[in-house]
Amino acid sequence: MRDFAYHRAATLDEARALIVNSGSAILAGGTTLLDLAKCQVARPAQVVDITRLPGLGDIRADAEALHLGALVRMAQAAGDPAVRAACPAVAEALALSASAQIRNMATLGGNLLQRTRCAYFRDPASYPDCNKREPGSGCAAQGGVTRGHALLGTSEACIATHPGDLAVTLVAFDAVVEIGTRWMRAVDFFLTPGDRPDREFALDPGEMVTALCIPASEAARRSTYLKLRDRASYEFASLSVAAGLERAADGTISALHLALGGIATVPWRLHAVEEALIGQQPTSGAVREASLLAIQGAEAREDNRHKLDLAPRLVQRAIEQLLGEVA
Ligand SMILES: Cc1cc2nc3c(=O)[nH]c(=O)nc-3n(C[C@H](O)[C@H](O)[C@H](O)COP(=O)(O)OP(=O)(O)OC[C@H]3O[C@@H](n4cnc5c(N)ncnc54)[C@H](O)[C@@H]3O)c2cc1C
Ligand code: SF4
Repeated sequence: MRDFAYHRAATLDEARALIVNSGSAILAGGTTLLDLAKCQVARPAQVVDITRLPGLGDIRADAEALHLGALVRMAQAAGDPAVRAACPAVAEALALSASAQIRNMATLGGNLLQRTRCAYFRDPASYPDCNKREPGSGCAAQGGVTRGHALLGTSEACIATHPGDLAVTLVAFDAVVEIGTRWMRAVDFFLTPGDRPDREFALDPGEMVTALCIPASEAARRSTYLKLRDRASYEFASLSVAAGLERAADGTISALHLALGGIATVPWRLHAVEEALIGQQPTSGAVREASLLAIQGAEAREDNRHKLDLAPRLVQRAIEQLLGEVA
């Protein structure tokens, strides 16, 4: 690991002034940053510890929204009664993430900013070709093992999946990300690779995430997060879905929020499925048909073709589970 200078910021202004320098990296829980530094993907000249900044560790729910500070720990949010009531999908996604030790240490801001688990990206010594790490160097994954790579939102430059769970729920429930004094929709925060896979988040130099805000809704209160993975714990999603649903008095679906994880380069909102079912009586045939729209536009490779079958089934299962609960 390269040597780096360490600064602990006491105020937001001090943190911003320090991180504006290229070569600076924010240190929150450190569970991802230190891994990336060890494998030489991150080579910061200085790290700026933000864990003592005041005011970023609060959880607050009111009639309008659920507010989560960027320094709230994953375990804290997963177990918080206000989070579980306002948006169970968020609490479930966090509880199903990583390990107990990591959840105790890691922050929500750091979770959002985590980087892809593409094995080629994380092994620069063996695979120098990675457009995300070194723009213009190529993509070692193309033609390699692509079981964990994306089918949606890809480009010729990069096919890496977004690895996070929390982010999927934020995109599903129209959350906004607070970046100091400005706000941005979560769906706009995560960038598809295009020809600049090295740009993953819509943050400018000197900016940091300060809070997340999930608008209050009946669908968020009646939500769930389902995660498929190769082993039952301590594993990233091979596929996941955040889902929330509301029914009108006549039984039709009046609101539906859906997003997929583990299948796209960014958390993937399923507008087509939502639009097909909103205003409809949710018969099993209608739910099955609509769920097939989850993979609209997907481009599979030999290694990840199984997700074409799995994704619609997982979406269908989530909707049926919620229908059972709100019948
Ligand atoms: C073995 C393992 C398994 C895992 N499994 C899962 C999983 O199943 N699901 C899942 O979602 N995650 C998983 N993770 C990822 C884990 O959740 C992240 O490591 C963690 O959330 C990062 O938070 P942190 O506070 O430790 O971030 P740090 O490591 O401190 O920072 C991560 C990145 O975010 C930046 N950063 C931190 N805070 C801010 C901020 N407020 N504003 C702007 N930039 C910021 C840092 O500079 C760094 O680039 C796993 C990690 C490991 C090591
Ligand atoms: S898929 Fe993206 S992250 Fe992985 S090697 Fe290719 S360019 Fe790098």
